[in-house]
Amino acid sequence: MHLIILGPHGAGKGTQAKLVAQHYKIAHISTGDILREHIKNKTNVGIKAKEYIAASKYVPDKIVDVVVVLKLRNNKEGFVLDGYPRTLVQAEFLNNVLRELGIELDAAINLQVDKEELIKRMIKRGQKEKRTDDTEEGIRSRMNEYETKAEPVIKYYRGMGKVIDINGDQSIEKVFKDIKEILDKLER
Ligand code: AMP
Repeated sequence: MHLIILGPHGAGKGTQAKLVAQHYKIAHISTGDILREHIKNKTNVGIKAKEYIAASKYVPDKIVDVVVVLKLRNNKEGFVLDGYPRTLVQAEFLNNVLRELGIELDAAINLQVDKEELIKRMIKRGQKEKRTDDTEEGIRSRMNEYETKAEPVIKYYRGMGKVIDINGDQSIEKVFKDIKEILDKLER
């Protein structure tokens, strides 16, 4: 199975991607995790990516695209991509790479959450964990960046008939159950 998972920061994308990967025995490819690993290992990619991540900005497409291609090549049998594509340019790039690898995308899982609820939850978390990047202003600015850039990505996959909309405002278990129900139908 070859999947993408979409949704704003804080919607539970990473949690669901992990559950999906475990259940369907496919690779969980998280660009955020990969970039953090590069930063830890002080690679060239890590050195370049660090300043963007520290400033809560998107890492340039050219850098992210390179690390993704490597991971896709090594996990051709199946994967769930988490945190990529985040822009239309990345989505188009991914489409070309998948075509070259002879892979057809099965679905783009779109986790839908109520924006104001999510913002409230993130502010609470920020206060509890004393995170400096989780001020209301920071959260709203990240959410706006997500919306502006993700909308065309979702539209792109809708046009391809690949989007599965999932209500993300439910328990972890219920969200996963909803995802599984639809993916199981696709597999048959
Ligand atoms: P995440 O763990 O998915 O929230 O990613 C952490 C950070 O890594 C993001 O805030 C971005 O700076 C960077 N990042 C991860 N994936 C991408 C991507 N597809 N495009 C650009 N930047 C990314």
